[in-house]
Amino acid sequence: MIKIYKAFPGGKHKVLTMSYDDGKFADRKLVEIFNKYGIRGTFNINAGLYNDGKRIDPSEWKELYKGHEVAAHTLTHPTIDRCPSVEVVQELLEDRKFLESVMGYPIRGIAYPNGSYSKRIGELAKSLGFVYGRAVGDSYAMVHATNLSNNDAQGLVPVGDETGFSLPADFMEWKATCHHNHNLMKFGENFKALYKKQYLYMMYVWGHSYEFDNDNNWDLIEDFCAMIGGQDDIWYATNIEIVDYMDVFDRLQFAADLSFVYNPSAASAWLIVNDTNVVEVKGGTTFNLKQFDI
Ligand SMILES: [Zn+2]
Repeated sequence: MIKIYKAFPGGKHKVLTMSYDDGKFADRKLVEIFNKYGIRGTFNINAGLYNDGKRIDPSEWKELYKGHEVAAHTLTHPTIDRCPSVEVVQELLEDRKFLESVMGYPIRGIAYPNGSYSKRIGELAKSLGFVYGRAVGDSYAMVHATNLSNNDAQGLVPVGDETGFSLPADFMEWKATCHHNHNLMKFGENFKALYKKQYLYMMYVWGHSYEFDNDNNWDLIEDFCAMIGGQDDIWYATNIEIVDYMDVFDRLQFAADLSFVYNPSAASAWLIVNDTNVVEVKGGTTFNLKQFDI
């Protein structure tokens, strides 16, 4: 028999991603810190607010956010679940259109403004071409709620594994691991220490760069990035790269007897075979797995 596991690029089993909202001036400093340590993430921008005197001009976006992802955050940041559907559609679509006109690539992710999410919002976003949406929440707190407060623990069930670093069941309701003001260093150290390879693990941090100015705690994010950066077993990815990678993997076509696998996508897929072999199945190729059937 042969045992095949999904792996992240390079055969890794952990992924770190960041998600920062509103596109205000402090993004410049945050991007600089991320770049210094090889940390990557997604910046969620309101296309209709850039001229309010607090936000970065679109002419700067392409260069500033290079190597990261720009994603939608609605045109004007309303609490969308209070809005009529036709308004939600315009808030999502107009943001997408403007961001795409500046960035030159498809914008397929969104962070729901004010965390305003419902099934209706998710369906609308999906119908407009969005493939993931970040909802406000804290997956780690859900798992470990018993340690935080008994009231919070009521009815909350961990998903996937018991570490709190699991991937979402539905990318349209993607919850972060933690906000950066919520035990970031502790969670980061726990994540870094994970070594068991039975699961794929994700750490997902969200916030607003201007909060570091307001709270006078830029040290926190710098220390975190220095601590978590440069690890061989962590994939540093944007939000959309994670979604797209899972899709590449899920499209793999395995022979019924697992003797070969065909990858119909353009990008590589990575497998761990029999616990120790890292296999890259390049896009458009068939990989012979017989050698591993022992
Ligand atoms: Zn926001």
